[in-house]
Formats: sequence, structure tokens, C-alpha cells
Amino acid sequence: MRAMSDMPPSPEPLAFIGTSDLAGLLRGKSIPLAELAARMGRGVGITHSNIMMSAFGPILDTPFGTAGDLMLVPDASARAAIPAPGAPDIALLLGDFLTLDGSPWACCPRGFLRRGLDGLGAAGFGLLATFEQEMVYTGVEERPGAPYSLDALRRQGAFGGLLLAAMRGARIAPDSFLAEYGPRQYEVTAGPALGVRAADEAVIVRELARAVAAGLGHRAVLAPMVEPRGVGNGTHIHWSLVDGAGEPATHDPAGMHGLSAAAGHFVAGLLHHLPAIVAVTAPSPVSYYRLRPGRWAPTSVDLGVQDRGSAVRICPIYGTAAETAARQFNVEFRVADATASPYLALGALVHAGLDGLRARRRLSDLAPAALPGSLADALDLFADSAATRDWFGAEFHALYLRFKRAELKALGGTDEAAICARYAAIY
Ligand code: GLU
Ligand code: MG
Repeated sequence: MRAMSDMPPSPEPLAFIGTSDLAGLLRGKSIPLAELAARMGRGVGITHSNIMMSAFGPILDTPFGTAGDLMLVPDASARAAIPAPGAPDIALLLGDFLTLDGSPWACCPRGFLRRGLDGLGAAGFGLLATFEQEMVYTGVEERPGAPYSLDALRRQGAFGGLLLAAMRGARIAPDSFLAEYGPRQYEVTAGPALGVRAADEAVIVRELARAVAAGLGHRAVLAPMVEPRGVGNGTHIHWSLVDGAGEPATHDPAGMHGLSAAAGHFVAGLLHHLPAIVAVTAPSPVSYYRLRPGRWAPTSVDLGVQDRGSAVRICPIYGTAAETAARQFNVEFRVADATASPYLALGALVHAGLDGLRARRRLSDLAPAALPGSLADALDLFADSAATRDWFGAEFHALYLRFKRAELKALGGTDEAAICARYAAIY
């Protein structure tokens, strides 16, 4: 008989402190869970160039070199248990990049969103949002006739139910899980959450989808297109404004398309700046293969009332009771995908909408425009936009451009199938 001391030790639980970075990937550092309480205030040490790790892995270009230290400080409110095969769950904590004196680092993705929300708060509003996330689950056989079918839902087995259970474990209320239109495509949505929490939940749900799929021996692929002629995976952001008391402030039955005056200005700002922020919300070369005709994905800078082909869609109200109507009423932003950090995508949406509010932009002043057709074009529009430079700050704006242009350069080639396969392996 083996003595107790000969037994292999059971794995020690780990905590991972991270953020969804410029590549839209969750990266950070891990420590023993037992050390977490002592580390809450200072987090983990990390260097500036960590934010420049490309989608492909290596740092392709960085202004920081090997110099500098930052702290990635966990937020106790952004915590979730991530299943890990054969090991205790990993305690994931999302965090903020702070400088060594404890002030926010100018190039922190979560800080960018927070600055936008603070500005919105100063204008008298909060933002409720949720992310509808589409993905291809590889653990199911592809069959004809499967879109939205019970057959496709049944054959994915335990994936959807385990994902919803893991979301509840992270105190994220599931709204829906369904078989989508594309081959092996599924969609998960959480209920709306306030402010930064909405983006935290989007980051966590993505990781839970990947972790639950991995636990079943498969993958949840969130890349915008898994093959060039396929069906896209969008990340649609539903949002609504609330007033200082937390009451709905987006709907006015007498307003244009049912929008309140404030929401009208917000949408006008979002559309006005859309060509310049697409580089942030749809930030990979593959993103632009999705934004093509015939995909139920947007191709123009447009507002649609209950139209799923538009960039910004006014969602329907089911039923008529005034109080319920105001709570239900929300607007959907469809020009985003999972290669974008939820912090940057939601942050860009908030900064653009806030500019619309401040400048009292009007929907009737908007000129028709096409969305940029490639990441290169989108980055040029972002580079030329004084507004985005202002919201990001000059340092972060230049850094983001440098990061994305290095990714494009490293990609080389134009074979769309090969490029889709490359991004599908990552996202
Ligand atoms: N898959 C579509 C997209 O790429 C969206 C389909 C839908 O309306 O849910 O955005
Ligand atoms: Mg969908």
C-alpha cells in the first residue's frame, strides 16, 4: 500500500489576472489562488510591451522595447470560475493597467471604456448593454437543413447547457442560447448589464464558451468568418441609455423612430463617427469579409428600424404597455465581432455616442456612406479622425494604429481562405 506521503499532490488552484487586449485576446498573468487576497491592491507586474502582443502571438512592433513596468490590478467585481480540464477551476479576475504610482495607464483598454462612461455619466446618463455572441462549435456534425433547428440544438449536446451553467456561476444571467443560421453556428446572449460590467461579461462569456468547448474536446470558434464564403460570426452590441436614477431614457414614442432626444443625438454621433471607429469594432482583416452583401451583416453607415441588414438597428418592442416598452426599447450595433476587445468596441461606441450628445448631432444631418471595405482603409479613416485621437489620447491612438498596421503587414498575402483559417485557429 502507498503511504499518504507518496500520493501525487492534487493541483493547487490558480488565479489569472488579465484583460482583453488590443488583439481582443484575454491575456495576463497567473498566481496561486492562495496569494490573491494579498495581491488585490497591486495585482501582478507587467511590462508596457505586453499590450503589443499580436493576434499571432509575437510582439511585431513596439515603441516600448523591453523597458518599463506596470501593474495589472484585478477588479474583485469582475471574477469568474473558468473550467480547466483535470484541474480546479481557474479564478479569472479582469483588471486595469495602472502605472507604478497607481494612476490609470493611458493605453489601458478597460480604462478607455471607463473614460467614455465617466463622460456619459457627467452628461447625466448611464449605459446598459449586452453582447450577442455568435460562434461555430466544432463538436457537432454539419448537416443540411439545420439552421435554427431543434436537431442542431439537440446534437450540440451538453455544450450550451454547460455554458449557461458556467455563466450563472459567474453571476451572469443568460438570456438565450440558440442554434444559428450557419453550419455548426450557435449564439449566446446575456441579460443587459450596466457600464463596464457589460464588457466584463462579454469577455467572460467568450472565455467560458472556449473553456466549456475545450472541456468537451472541441472548440468554440468566434472568428468573424471561418471560411470566405461562409456565414459570419457577429458580436452584436445591444445598448440603451438610463438616466441618473437608472430609469430608461432611450425611448420616446413621439420621437423619430421612437428614440428619445438624447438617444437620437447618441445614435447620430455613433453613425457620424462609424467610419472612423470600425477599425476598433471590426479590427481584423477577416472582419471585412463578414461586412459584405448577403450576410445579414452591415455594409453601410445606416440606421435601420427593425432591419438586421443595418449597421445600427432599432429593435422592436413586443407588446404595448408604456412602462414595459421603455424598458424593452434598445438599439443594436451590428458592426462588431470577436476580434475586438469588448472594452475597445463598447468604449468606441460610448465615446462616439457621447460626442453626438454633446454636439447635439441630428439623424437628419447624416449623409449616406459605405463602410470601409478593408482593415487598411478603416485604419486610414481612424488615423485621420481627430475625434478618435481625442478620445484615445494621442499616445494610445498612435499605439493602436502601430499595433494593427503591424498585424496587417505580418499577414502578407491575399488568399482569403488561408487568412480565415489563420484567424479561426486563434479566435
Ligand atoms: N451572422 C450575422 C452576422 O454576422 C447575424 C445574423 C443575425 O441577425 O443574428 O452579423
Ligand atoms: Mg445572431
